[in-house]
Amino acid sequence: MNKPQLAIIIPCYNEELCIKNTVEKLFEVINDLISKGKIREDSYLYLIDDGSKDSTWSIIEELHSGNNLVKGTKFLRNYGNQKAIIAGLESVREIGCDCVVSIDADLQQDEWAIERFLDEFQKGYDIVYGIRNNRKTDSFFKKFTALAFYKTMNLLGVNIPPNHSDYRLISKRALEILNLYPEKLLFLRGFFHEVGLKSTSVKFDVKPRMAGESKFNFASLMALALNGITSYSIVPLRMVAVLGFFMALIGFVVGLEAVFEKIFLHNSPNGWATVVVLLSVFGGIQLFCLGIIGEYVGQLYKEVKSRPRYIKDIELK
Ligand code: UDP
Ligand code: MG
Repeated sequence: MNKPQLAIIIPCYNEELCIKNTVEKLFEVINDLISKGKIREDSYLYLIDDGSKDSTWSIIEELHSGNNLVKGTKFLRNYGNQKAIIAGLESVREIGCDCVVSIDADLQQDEWAIERFLDEFQKGYDIVYGIRNNRKTDSFFKKFTALAFYKTMNLLGVNIPPNHSDYRLISKRALEILNLYPEKLLFLRGFFHEVGLKSTSVKFDVKPRMAGESKFNFASLMALALNGITSYSIVPLRMVAVLGFFMALIGFVVGLEAVFEKIFLHNSPNGWATVVVLLSVFGGIQLFCLGIIGEYVGQLYKEVKSRPRYIKDIELK
């Protein structure tokens, strides 16, 4: 096979402390791969500034003016890391490349693993997942929530590999297929799983964040997880129906028992406590179920409006 042109996409949100260093380090990797004859010399970086409020964009512009192989775009506002990655994938598809790797701006993922990603790509894999060797750098809370998320997804029938990250390589072919997906709230990890292309994984080491702090908080991780579930599984909706059925069954049996006692034992069960407890339990379950259905309705609502996924303010090609 001919040497592939590699694109590396990097979502950046308030990363002024990292970005310069990250770009330098990634060029070390690119130059090493070029010298080994593994990629083309016009392989490039594409940075997506996800509406940063610091000087991230001016640093990107400066890097671009010094080297045309640093390309990028600036979003009008912050749309979140998933949208930034999708924008990166769509942009490099337009610019052109044979394969693309996505990596975080803080370079927590071992950038030297890119060579192994490429080796797998050359063997004919369209998607190469990066799987963390461990989660040593994550807080207990993040480890726990991530594990809970992957376990839930697996239970709901979406078998995405645990400990996988947004560090992955995908081929031009996968990019073309991604382009056929009009979903506004596309959950990338689910997409790569369901699309059915030949895929494999590469293990990599996780490092502590180079500088600055994590851009995720509980709310954004929760939103990501809920989007993942509602985009790829309707099992929760079915569970609501099954739960409703069994609750009704219990009510029916309890009712029968009351009638039985009245007719044959001549005493009717009394006590308002039972009624109050049952009312609040059932009321709670009903609201919870409504909430689940509401998540899907909300998802529909957002999709139907068909607003653009993101808007680019400036692009440097
Ligand atoms: N990021 C982004 N938009 C956001 C939040 C994060 O583009 O709204 C980027 C961020 O700049 C980084 C990547 O997503 O390149 C991963 O973020 P971070 O390192 O903060 O996440 P963590 O490693 O803590 O999971
Ligand atoms: Mg990070």
